[in-house]
Amino acid sequence: MSVQVTLNPFEIAQRQLDEAAKILGLERGMHELLRWPMREFHVRIPVRMDDGSVRVFEGFRVQYNWARGPCKGGIRFHPGETFDTVRALAAWMTWKTAVMDLPLGGGKGGVVCNPMELSERELERLSRGYIQAIGHYIGPEIDVPAPDVNTNPQIMAWMMDEYEKIVGKSAPGVITGKPLPLGGSAGRVDATARGGMYCIREACKVLGINPKGATCAIQGHGNVGQFAHKLGEELLGLKVVAVSDVNGGIYNPKGLPVEEVIAHKEKTGSVVGFPGAKSITNAELLELPVDILIPAALENQITGANAGRIKAKIVAELANGPTTPEADEILFKNGIYVIPDFLCNAGGVTVSYFEQVQNAMMYYWTQEEVHQKLDQKMTAAFHAVHNSAKEHKVHNRLGAYLVAVPRVAEAVRLRGWA
Ligand code: GLU
Repeated sequence: MSVQVTLNPFEIAQRQLDEAAKILGLERGMHELLRWPMREFHVRIPVRMDDGSVRVFEGFRVQYNWARGPCKGGIRFHPGETFDTVRALAAWMTWKTAVMDLPLGGGKGGVVCNPMELSERELERLSRGYIQAIGHYIGPEIDVPAPDVNTNPQIMAWMMDEYEKIVGKSAPGVITGKPLPLGGSAGRVDATARGGMYCIREACKVLGINPKGATCAIQGHGNVGQFAHKLGEELLGLKVVAVSDVNGGIYNPKGLPVEEVIAHKEKTGSVVGFPGAKSITNAELLELPVDILIPAALENQITGANAGRIKAKIVAELANGPTTPEADEILFKNGIYVIPDFLCNAGGVTVSYFEQVQNAMMYYWTQEEVHQKLDQKMTAAFHAVHNSAKEHKVHNRLGAYLVAVPRVAEAVRLRGWA
């Protein structure tokens, strides 16, 4: 029987859940409820451009499930954004907050736009416009957005300000990933990458690999990829030999010094052309003979077509959805240890949760406290997933579903929804 291959992220997310539902023996109503977003918004955002014309942008917000608490998840600004991608990302947020045992549900937002083509003022008007469109349907107790691809603390600041204008009061808990002076949390900016490093540290322990000097390739050099490069060296002593961005990649088996690569990117707009490194494509980067491969860009990078050529011992998914179900099977068969996205990149939402807690009590923790609490949470979740996969003899992604789904299902059941 041939299995239909799809690259639609939402179909992939549903298929992943279906597999878990089978093993868990989820009853039909429960399974159906967890397969679909509970509520979604599709909005048009008119924006006055600098030349006086008006452009209308398309935006989404998906509130996937709130059985365990307010929906939580980032907002992406991307020209290729689709409703189904946002649905998938909102589903993965639901499993992410559950696998981390945070008292939150899952959500996600997106706007179809190319922020590189917008001026700073246009970007501000678009960010405010998005909140004007969905502001009545979010809030600290309803749905709490955050940064994701192409959005950042400044955009969170504009969005928080716009929301506060609507409700007429201070409400920093409506959004996370804010700048520190506006109620952001210490340690939020590098939290996704840092959480991933704690996972890699634990994976090295269970696999008997010494991270010091282990070679590493990173796909993507945005916020997450850059901090993974930096913290990989700093916390684990990894030797990062290859990195890439949308324009292509660079490879030097002797290692790539992080500060110089970042400076080069700031000057030229890309990592490509970094002195002393060989130019490679993004596809070639994935297949390099390294110990640790970190996809930190977009979805559908490791597929049935290239998974057989992956040589890394550990694939640490800092991106959301980088690996398709076909690839999962191949990697598992080849003995490659995947730290699945909704565990590996959960450091971001975990510190976002800490930010919500601090906003609510109006009292702020030190960076050391945040790092220590994050480490505790990541390490516990890592071992829960590792043990679940071992116990059920399945790959780690399915192992993670088998931890997360029963937690959401239990909350749904206790509420009497299914
Ligand atoms: N966008 C990040 C993610 O995909 C963080 C979400 C959040 O902090 O709410 O996990």
